[in-house]
Amino acid sequence: MHFIIHRGSNEIGGSCVEVKSRNSRIVIDIGVPIVTTSGKRFDFKDYRKLSREELITSKLLPNVKGLYGQDSGNKPVDGLLISHAHIDHYGLYNFVDKDIQYHLGEATHKLINLSNIFIKDRGSIEKVAPYIQDREQFNIEDFKITPFLMDHSAFDAYAFLIEADEKKLFYSGDFRSHGRKGKLFYKFLRIAPEGINVLLLEGTLIKERASSSKTFKTEEVVENEIVKVLEKHKTIVFGIASSQNIDRMVSFYKAAKRKGRLFVIDVYTANILSGIGKRTIPHPSKDYPEIKVFFPKHLCDKLKKFKRENMMFDFKQYKITRDEISKNLSNVFMMVRPSIKSYLEKIENIGAAPVIYSMWEGYMEDAENSDFIKYITKEDDSLIHRIHTSGHADVMTLKELVNCLKPDNLIPIHTLNPEMYDTHFENVRDVSDGQEIEI
Ligand SMILES: [Zn+2]
Ligand SMILES: [Zn+2]
Repeated sequence: MHFIIHRGSNEIGGSCVEVKSRNSRIVIDIGVPIVTTSGKRFDFKDYRKLSREELITSKLLPNVKGLYGQDSGNKPVDGLLISHAHIDHYGLYNFVDKDIQYHLGEATHKLINLSNIFIKDRGSIEKVAPYIQDREQFNIEDFKITPFLMDHSAFDAYAFLIEADEKKLFYSGDFRSHGRKGKLFYKFLRIAPEGINVLLLEGTLIKERASSSKTFKTEEVVENEIVKVLEKHKTIVFGIASSQNIDRMVSFYKAAKRKGRLFVIDVYTANILSGIGKRTIPHPSKDYPEIKVFFPKHLCDKLKKFKRENMMFDFKQYKITRDEISKNLSNVFMMVRPSIKSYLEKIENIGAAPVIYSMWEGYMEDAENSDFIKYITKEDDSLIHRIHTSGHADVMTLKELVNCLKPDNLIPIHTLNPEMYDTHFENVRDVSDGQEIEI
């Protein structure tokens, strides 16, 4: 078996790994980069004029033979695995040949489809194999693949065991152990596969002075901190987080409920929470009367454009109006984002309001976010509450995984600091993007 990290050996994001057996080839993830080589936030618009060949030469598209259309002379790859619904793992799939089959989780597929409707239309994923399930092994040609459901800030995230030619490669994907599904990680440690030759290990949080102790708060602590903020303020409180971070949505909901507030979400978030299809996940329904939905015009326009009006009507009975919000300010915890500013401007009597910023600090520096926060707080910084926990494993959790899998070789991926793996682990082999390695 051979593998090539096409992208990700020295960066966070843009993940893409090709694995070759004697007779077949698969690809794991096809993500967009998060930052450019100069450290700027990556924006695909800067590259939109380039042809596919130019995108490959400029190293934006991974140079995988037979992955894209009109790639004559190369045998198509035999399957594309998507570990989870974060764009740094799937965001370039629109370039992939329509005949290539995808292997992904059902919720992952749903979340990608919702992003296509509400955020950026990349076109639908057409050829999908039966949805992957936790620990249900499947084959792609002569590969044997076992997905393992992991705890991560994306719902439905998988690690993969890839077996072929009597060799075993383990791809950790993005994971952690301090989320609401942290038990999954400890369950994995009990049932982990043996005889791993190569472990591709994410190292988002491997940094110079990384502590060897547990450094991240759990989602329960996040929830308690939100409760304190809701308690402190006697007016509307706004929350900024990713709607697809389901653990965080649960924390928002639970905190609101504990303080007797309504949890007010937009129609996009409503579709995500309902679309996941789990009764235990809070979503607008009779089971969760504290959840109310608002309908910003630009989101409704998108649904009309896609002829998906049903995605509005489904939540009509849970609607809250601007007037109702305005009359109940002290009873509302409302999830917001910069694009709904014009909706907020028409709610009366809000004034300067507190905001819980619950995402990665780096995104706060984006002009769009910082302007929006200034608008909400009327530039009173004391109203900003930063409450967040990482979607990624701390060093101690990474060590627990490595000690359990005992790989012959450990390869850094999804990290800015591959050279620091050596200080934490043995048998580290540093590889570069595009380098083919034989196992
Ligand atoms: Zn990632
Ligand atoms: Zn991720």
